[in-house]
Amino acid sequence: MNNNGAVVKLLDVHKTYNTGEMEVNAVRGVSLEIHRAEFVALMGASGSGKSTLMNILGCLDRPTAGHYLLDDADVSGLDRDRLADIRNRKIGFVFQNFNLLPRTSARENVELPLLYSAQRLTNAQLREKADRVLASVGLGGREDHHPSQLSGGQQQRVAIARALINDPEVVLADEPTGNLDSRTSVEIMAIFQQLNERGITVIMVTHEQDIAAYARRNVIMRDGVILEDRPVARRANAAGELVRIQGAEAPPTL
Ligand code: ADP
Ligand code: MG
Repeated sequence: MNNNGAVVKLLDVHKTYNTGEMEVNAVRGVSLEIHRAEFVALMGASGSGKSTLMNILGCLDRPTAGHYLLDDADVSGLDRDRLADIRNRKIGFVFQNFNLLPRTSARENVELPLLYSAQRLTNAQLREKADRVLASVGLGGREDHHPSQLSGGQQQRVAIARALINDPEVVLADEPTGNLDSRTSVEIMAIFQQLNERGITVIMVTHEQDIAAYARRNVIMRDGVILEDRPVARRANAAGELVRIQGAEAPPTL
């Protein structure tokens, strides 16, 4: 099937949770195409289905109905092992709480996904690769620090380096600045913009309008469906300043 460069394509995706007593229709018919090198912020109130959708996009969960094409391959029906394999090769995750191993150096945290990858690297190669990615997110010289010896922003940089170590096509970030102060948030968003400018597709969940402004496109969910899908008309730059984007439609409320 030809996806016209869509790295992610959801076709009428539904997700129903069955808790025993009742069914929860968390996602109720979402169709969405995201192309290579897009930067999308997924927004919406708590309970609107953002995390459920991210879990599907990240191959952590499967849709109850509908199809998910990742890089042209229909992954909606794959078993756990095949999903894990695809996840490891194509997707990097960044979480609100960083999710680093505590008594483990920054370098070892970043090396971890490489240990599960198909390519067999020597210890020296692992180290060289991890250190290169750590340097690319501004952490050169901190390779031996443990998470407790790093600030929140530095810990999130380690988590971003870990997400990048397998050269993913898509980076998924769930509230990546949720635990950071506003100045550090600007620094972290600048890193996501740099990754995106290098051609990586970034999909990020956020509650905050000013964080969503770093993306190029905002998708807003409500009650398990997409309510709105619009280009960012006033985009935040790496310094946190809003710049009007030529050609992007202004939202009707402005
Ligand atoms: P959001 O991330 O936008 O807050 P979620 O995707 O977490 O929304 O949740 C969407 C709906 O699905 C909510 O009503 C939530 O209670 C329900 N839900 C999420 N995960 C589960 C689960 N594992 N089991 C049952 N219900 C769930
Ligand atoms: Mg959520």
